[in-house]
Amino acid sequence: MCKDFLIIAGPCSGESEEQLFTTAKQLKEQVAPDYFRAGIWKPRTRPGSFEGVGEKGLLWLEEIQKEFNIKAITEAGSKEHVELLQKHHINSFWIGARTVANPFSVQQIAEAAANTNMTVFVKNPIHPDIELWTGAIERFLYLGIINVFAIHRGFYPYEKTHLRNVPRWEIPIELARRFPDIKIICDPSHIAGNTKYIAEISQRAIDLNMCGLMIESHFNPEIALSDKKQQLKPEELKNIINSLVFRNNKDFDDSFKIQLSELREKIDVIDYQLIDMLEHRFKLVDEIGKLKKSHNITILQLERWKTIVESRLNYANTDNISRDFLLKILQMIHKESIQRQNDIFGSP
Ligand code: PEP
Ligand code: MN
Repeated sequence: MCKDFLIIAGPCSGESEEQLFTTAKQLKEQVAPDYFRAGIWKPRTRPGSFEGVGEKGLLWLEEIQKEFNIKAITEAGSKEHVELLQKHHINSFWIGARTVANPFSVQQIAEAAANTNMTVFVKNPIHPDIELWTGAIERFLYLGIINVFAIHRGFYPYEKTHLRNVPRWEIPIELARRFPDIKIICDPSHIAGNTKYIAEISQRAIDLNMCGLMIESHFNPEIALSDKKQQLKPEELKNIINSLVFRNNKDFDDSFKIQLSELREKIDVIDYQLIDMLEHRFKLVDEIGKLKKSHNITILQLERWKTIVESRLNYANTDNISRDFLLKILQMIHKESIQRQNDIFGSP
């Protein structure tokens, strides 16, 4: 398990003094989170919906910090927001999925936070572009801000799914590979969009070594002014947290280590074989490309491609490999093959 696992909980938006205090009190009693979250400025897709209470909400958060001995955190979308947070002794903020996609804004926010000891949580952008996410993180690191976390809140679902945002777990995994020192917090509320899936997504995040959870919680979600379907009551949140299984990440015992390394050695061999086989296959693709070019034949031969797909899918034992996965691999190989033949056609 990740050392210093963080729980960040609180409503989507700060709506009123009463709503914030009641929720904070219940959360403190039920969950004792590390941070109390509440959006004070809300970036809404369309104008006219609730856009947050603004600066007066910071006064409430300031009081909550004192009364419940908890750190408050909110979203900052501009340099002015960061300055107001400092004025109200709120030392942490997150950058939302919409802001993170704008390097001008991120740079201005980073400059406002430089030379303070603020803690910054950088959400992933709405669309699955890891460079924008890591680029935003770098803007803070380059200005000497050391307390920087990433928040994984899922990505816009281009296809219909039961989730509000698709997790695309491979993207935060790639972020962890590139930035091993940046801790990743999962925001299952915005991935799920619905309280039903929060436990399952939280467990998945823990199993992928994420270092904390940011979960929306409201004392009475039914009256929430934003994201009501995905907010849990503090008590429900407690039950979910208690049901999560925290597993061991590092302290392997000896027999486990031996078994693991034996299996991993076998996988290493197979990976190298796969690379050799692919290289071999692409050499043949190139030869065919030259042949097609010299005979003035089009690159795409639809009948051949249909036969490849059908025969390979029939050949595969779908107990061991899923049809969907195999089809994706074949499509990737075919796309690369077409690209290579295209390059051959374009060269003299
Ligand atoms: C939020 O945390 O309430 C929020 C607006 O999140 P996101 O930027 O991930 O949509
Ligand atoms: Mn929200």
